Amino acid sequence: MDAISYERAPDAAAAIRSASQPGAVFIGGGTNLLDLMKGGIARPLKLVDITHIDGMERITPLPDGGLRIGALARNSDAANHAWVRERYPLLSQAFLAGASAQLRNMATVGGNLMQRTRCYYFYDAAFAQCNKRTPGSGCAALEGNNRIHAILGASTQCIATNPSDMSVALAALDAVVRVSGPRGERAIPFAEFHRLPGERPDLDTTLQAGELITSVDLPPPLFAEHSKYLKVRDRASYAFALVSVAAALQIEGGTVKTARIALGGVAHKPWRATETERMLTGQPLSRATLQSAAALAVREAKPYRENGFKVELAQRAIVRAVEQAGGVA
Ligand code: SF4
Repeated sequence: MDAISYERAPDAAAAIRSASQPGAVFIGGGTNLLDLMKGGIARPLKLVDITHIDGMERITPLPDGGLRIGALARNSDAANHAWVRERYPLLSQAFLAGASAQLRNMATVGGNLMQRTRCYYFYDAAFAQCNKRTPGSGCAALEGNNRIHAILGASTQCIATNPSDMSVALAALDAVVRVSGPRGERAIPFAEFHRLPGERPDLDTTLQAGELITSVDLPPPLFAEHSKYLKVRDRASYAFALVSVAAALQIEGGTVKTARIALGGVAHKPWRATETERMLTGQPLSRATLQSAAALAVREAKPYRENGFKVELAQRAIVRAVEQAGGVA
């Protein structure tokens, strides 16, 4: 058994100071971290408890009409907050599609951003090959069970997917992640927060050592009328997405003025289908246009032995999500 020290941080500055020590990690809801520790996948020397930092759980309006969701807001509180439900229903739907009610009551928004892949081999230390867990060891999923793995943006080092539903909606909404660290504060555009695996699959995000997520900022709401989070999974609840789609539209006079489409379950990070968005813009929502646009999203897909079905599934899910967002299904 490893010895672990515990410290309750009174404020963000103290938390950041404590986390600069070797082997220290932040703990919020702990819903993913404790699983990783029990499995011997994460072996922190020190837990810095951030749950008592005052104010970081608040959800507050921003001067530009947007919304700031504190990193310690519980997933269930954020999902059911009146402003989130009314102004960002896409995000509320994505929260409620994730995990179980009990987990949503514990899990924080910041922790949701940081949750790690559900690749079977990553979680089972009996498998020696996993570049994400042990850099340089190989990737057991490449030739193994890879039904749940990536079809876009993977590398020869890792084909894992990001499991977060919330993050797919935040990608479509162009959220900004605010962090504070030893070198001050910075704002990270959502598309730059999670990484593709490349040569460093051990790194999931672009966070730097000691940086603490303080909030997620949403731009002013544009898509309250026309949005849909569609999650396709093996069972109706408490399962990760095989494919998910966050679709957000602005429609004027029957024509798409703006389209935002993000996919989950297909890549190491939430995947923006930018070519699909471009093709839909300026068009009426016809089934033929949608099918052509959806095909663009998977044009560069590279499936593995067991997950070829995701290529077709992603296209069908895009068509259904966009039709439902646009009110034509
Ligand atoms: Fe590890 Fe990534 Fe390969 Fe899974 S896909 S075994 S997480 S390297």
